[in-house]
Amino acid sequence: MTRVLVVEDDPQLVRALVINMRARRYGVDAAPDGATALRLAAARQPDVVMLDLGLPDMDGIEVIRALRGWSRVPILVLSARLGSAEKVAALDAGADDYVTKPFSMDELMARLRAAVRRTEESVPAAGTIRVETAGFTIDLLAKRVVRDGRDVRLTPTEWQLLEILVARPGHLVTQQHLLREVWGVSRSNRTNYLRVYMAQLRRKLEADPAHPRHLITEAGMGYRFET
Ligand code: CA
Repeated sequence: MTRVLVVEDDPQLVRALVINMRARRYGVDAAPDGATALRLAAARQPDVVMLDLGLPDMDGIEVIRALRGWSRVPILVLSARLGSAEKVAALDAGADDYVTKPFSMDELMARLRAAVRRTEESVPAAGTIRVETAGFTIDLLAKRVVRDGRDVRLTPTEWQLLEILVARPGHLVTQQHLLREVWGVSRSNRTNYLRVYMAQLRRKLEADPAHPRHLITEAGMGYRFET
């Protein structure tokens, strides 16, 4: 069952959304504010987040940024705000789509189906599901890394980074590309995120993290995965 997290402080709208989505066999959780939304997103791992930007405790943009710190879940923004600056800010922060209130329920459900379809399409193609190196094996479909016969536990963000890098062995992947794909930001002012997460990945995967053989830094440019 596809699970949707609805983040909205208008109880009447929440009721309408829940009724419509349950009728279409979605599993629905609802959060009336940003703090509850972040807690439920971590606890329930929804397949899609539907997010109102005007929340009582924090700006919806902050919720998007916080989610993008660890999750690639599709985020569909619902907002009464019409300004294109708001729209751009939401998309820059990592939202996937935007619906302006008032909207028709049919349109919203169509956007929801599209968001779900995009996640299903991002499953890696057959033939690229298993990557072997001398030190560790990655099973992309099972989301499993085995090193010296033991499972290595990776966080969702570490997984995303690793998946992107191993998809093109031997090729440079730019910092900007990784930031955009993993955190939904296009500017390169967050390269410290990348350094922190790459250091964690090396500690977990490389025999000598100070002299990596598989997760290579291209100074000032990006990273490269070598089998
Ligand atoms: Ca609101």
